[in-house]
Amino acid sequence: MLFDSHCHLNFSDFENNYQEIIADCLEKGIGLINIGADYESSKRAVAIADEYPDKNIYASIGIHPTEGEGEFEQEKFQELIDVETRLGASKIVAVGEIGLDYYYKNAEDIKSLKHKNIKTIDNIKRTQREEFVKQLNFAQKNNLPVVLHARGSKENPDDAYEDMLEIISTPLSSPPRSAVRGKLQRGSQRLNNKTRDSRLRGNDNIVKGVVHCFDASLEIAQKFVDFGFYIGLTGIITFKNKSVDNLRQVVKMIPLERILVETDAPWLTPEPHRGEKNTPQNVEFVALKVAELKGANYEKVCEQTTENVNRLFLNDKI
Ligand SMILES: [Zn+2]
Repeated sequence: MLFDSHCHLNFSDFENNYQEIIADCLEKGIGLINIGADYESSKRAVAIADEYPDKNIYASIGIHPTEGEGEFEQEKFQELIDVETRLGASKIVAVGEIGLDYYYKNAEDIKSLKHKNIKTIDNIKRTQREEFVKQLNFAQKNNLPVVLHARGSKENPDDAYEDMLEIISTPLSSPPRSAVRGKLQRGSQRLNNKTRDSRLRGNDNIVKGVVHCFDASLEIAQKFVDFGFYIGLTGIITFKNKSVDNLRQVVKMIPLERILVETDAPWLTPEPHRGEKNTPQNVEFVALKVAELKGANYEKVCEQTTENVNRLFLNDKI
């Protein structure tokens, strides 16, 4: 079995054929998580997942950093979760994609940005940070992992990642003391089995998750891994460009136990299909590349990355 941990069949690009694609995925033993980028696409991800109650089709809900100020309306998102919870087994497995995106310096260049009044890069950064922290708190409150999106500036591709690390390493709004005590006790029991659990760092407020479409330095990857995060790899690792060699080096160095594979469909189509519209079935080519880079067996990569999804998002359900 294989899992596309991040795709967007909930986007209008797949309006007419998402059912066909999902049927093919299920036949091939591919599970998937559709990721929201605004309220509408989050709602749609949940609706699609609900069409397949007993299958490995799930949803993540959140506001992408380039959506802008005030887009995260907590009550509306809480309602999505509450409705799912009332239905029984909730199909919402994460909050995301959320994070920081410093690629564009002008509001005019950010197509999805609704309020173009945010002019300077400092304003853009501050707004993104506020929306990000709100959603981290929301994830923690609902006991859900996060799907992080980071894109650095052209001058320093690591900058958004560094700021994100700083934010997630700062304790979020504190839970009541009794809850902290209970959690710490549970934490100490778990230390015996999970040596790299973030609880080891003594900061029980850290949310868990994946840095999706990772494309930064080994040092940054290592810091996220130390924090208990997973590293999400897309078709970029299959691209022939020389500039991807650094990322391929990162893949070689990080443990398979911390890797998730994803397509980010409809974008980032892996080789040998680059140039075509991406679909979740292509996650196979990402997993093949991971196997090649790590000198690992393909079956083992499928098995371990699925186990990683199971552990992070599905509470060991599959
Ligand atoms: Zn995405």
